[in-house]
Amino acid sequence: MNAIEPRQTAARCPICGKPVEPAFRPFCSKRCADIDLNRWLSGVYAVPAKEDEDEDGARPADSREGDPS
Ligand SMILES: [Zn+2]
Repeated sequence: MNAIEPRQTAARCPICGKPVEPAFRPFCSKRCADIDLNRWLSGVYAVPAKEDEDEDGARPADSREGDPS
């Protein structure tokens, strides 16, 4: 039972942190939605075609050696 749990007011725009507008969920405005979309598209289309240039060899799966906890 969490008494402190707002219904929708907890939703914040992941771009600017403003309260989310229902019309533009999960963003506060079309602008932020576009920004996020651009980021997303950039992340997708920004993938270089020369992918197999650096990582040519197979890496060991367990590269987490010396994990400070
Ligand atoms: Zn925003």
